[in-house]
Amino acid sequence: MSWPASSRSTRRGSPDAVKCPFCAEPENKVIDSRLSNQGTVIRRRRECLGCQRRFTTYERVEEILPMVVKKDGRREAFDRQKVLDGLKLACQKRPVGAEQLEAVVDGIERRLQEMGEKEVPSSVIGESVMRELARLDEVAYVRFASVYRSFKDLGEFMSELKELISERKSTPKK
Ligand SMILES: [Zn+2]
Repeated sequence: MSWPASSRSTRRGSPDAVKCPFCAEPENKVIDSRLSNQGTVIRRRRECLGCQRRFTTYERVEEILPMVVKKDGRREAFDRQKVLDGLKLACQKRPVGAEQLEAVVDGIERRLQEMGEKEVPSSVIGESVMRELARLDEVAYVRFASVYRSFKDLGEFMSELKELISERKSTPKK
C-alpha cells in the first residue's frame, strides 16, 4: 500500500508552483514520483489539470523536503535517521525487517515531498509513522503510540521510548 500520489500532490497556491510547459496552467497532479538512485533528485511525472498533457519535472530533494516545526516552534531539517531510529526502537524483537523500516521512511519522505509545503509540524511526521506502524506490526504501533501521544517531539519521545523498552525487557516473564 502506498500513499495515493494523485490526490494530495498539487501545490495549490504555492509561489513556486510548477507551471504546465504547454499552457502555463499552475495546477497539476503528480502521477508518479521517484527518487534517483542516489536519492538526491526526485523525478515527478505530472498531469496538467488544464490541458491534461503530461510532463516531467526534476527537483532536488533538499529543496523539497520541508522543515520540521517542533512543538516549541523551533525548526529543524527532516532527519531521516532519527525517524528510522525511532522505528527500530519500536520494532525491537518484532518480526519487522530493516528493509520494511527503510520502506516506511521512504514512504514518509515521499509523502512530505508530495505535500510540497515549506514547513510541516512534527506531529505530521509522528502521525505518519504511527499510521505506517499500525499496518506493519501492532505491538510496535502500541509502543510507539503510547509514548508518542504524550510527547509530540521526536527527540524527547525517543529517549522515553528507549526507557520503556528496556523496562519491558528487564521485567521477568510470568
Ligand atoms: Zn497544460
